[in-house]
Amino acid sequence: GLCQQATFLISAAKVDQCPDDQGYEVAFAGRSNAGKSSALNTLTHASLARTSKTPGRTQLLNFFRLDEERRLVDLPGYGYAKVPIPLKLHWQKHLEAYLGSRESLRGLMLMMDIRHPLTEFDRMMLDWSGASGMPMHILLTKADKLAFGAAKTTLLKVQQEIRKGWGDHVSIQLFSAPKRIGVEDAQTVLGHWLGL
Ligand code: GDP
Repeated sequence: GLCQQATFLISAAKVDQCPDDQGYEVAFAGRSNAGKSSALNTLTHASLARTSKTPGRTQLLNFFRLDEERRLVDLPGYGYAKVPIPLKLHWQKHLEAYLGSRESLRGLMLMMDIRHPLTEFDRMMLDWSGASGMPMHILLTKADKLAFGAAKTTLLKVQQEIRKGWGDHVSIQLFSAPKRIGVEDAQTVLGHWLGL
């Protein structure tokens, strides 16, 4: 598919360094270690996110080009204790500026480790998407780490809590990169947001 031609475009530290705000953009968010890189790579059949982890490309926003008018954006997962507080505040400010101003942004993919769902970071992203009405799709990652019944129970619980707290602009599914659980479902949502 289209995603096979995904290539690294630019690493932006601020909103004014972003590519032209036209076409379709989908952003990927997740607390560090939630499985965001693995999900991005699995969904695009590329090793995009390794690029994001190389030094010098750990800026605020990493843009990947799919075609002339479509991009994926890797947002920082600032859950690391290692990240200094001033840097976290810098990210938070510019992340909010990006999320609040980006016309081409069509949806937000949020990765949550199924064993640690709804972290403070996740709640912040949910609050923002609720306030702005931006569609959000949640991947409960590492679903292979739980037995199927337990994974399903967690899915229903998290789904219920999200419906109560944030409403129904949010969809959610199980996901596993190595076991390829939910890959097609996630690609369907992505394709829809990208106007494919
Ligand atoms: P990121 O920091 O959010 O980009 O997370 P990574 O994608 O780098 O994943 C963090 C760790 O979790 C790595 O050791 C991955 O191999 C592992 N991981 C990611 N996704 C899955 C998954 O679906 N299942 C399992 N079992 N491990 C995963």
